[in-house]
Amino acid sequence: MGEFDIVIIGAGPAGTTAAWHLAESGLKIALLDKKRFPRDKVCGDALSGNTIFELKKLEEKGLNLSFFEEAVKAYPVDGLSFFSPKGI
Ligand SMILES: Cc1cc2nc3c(=O)[nH]c(=O)nc-3n(C[C@H](O)[C@H](O)[C@H](O)COP(=O)(O)OP(=O)(O)OC[C@H]3O[C@@H](n4cnc5c(N)ncnc54)[C@H](O)[C@@H]3O)c2cc1C
Repeated sequence: MGEFDIVIIGAGPAGTTAAWHLAESGLKIALLDKKRFPRDKVCGDALSGNTIFELKKLEEKGLNLSFFEEAVKAYPVDGLSFFSPKGI
């Protein structure tokens, strides 16, 4: 392994996004994770407005979001309900 300016441990959304932005500034980044990717990740498959805003910013910089568009077409969502543990 060569020399890096920054080593980020953890390639989840936070580490990956940080690495993307830092690499843009010309820094040499190493992004490490203890798991092999693609990994299984427990998720509700929901994206908040803020998440979409951040993803769109990365798309402008070259991130390919076509798989999201395919998923939206395959699994359209037309509503959302929140329930407390007591069911109200
Ligand atoms: C059940 C569940 C459902 C969820 N559903 C949603 C949802 O529908 N929508 C949504 O937006 N969010 C959802 N979330 C939240 C979302 O998963 C987190 O907000 C997001 O994953 C946090 O990103 P992160 O990069 O901070 O951490 P993580 O995604 O946890 O990434 C951390 C990474 O660090 C690695 N790591 C940890 N320790 C080490 C180590 N010592 N050495 C090397 N690597 C290491 C891990 O392998 C992991 O890949 C859900 C969370 C849970 C638990």
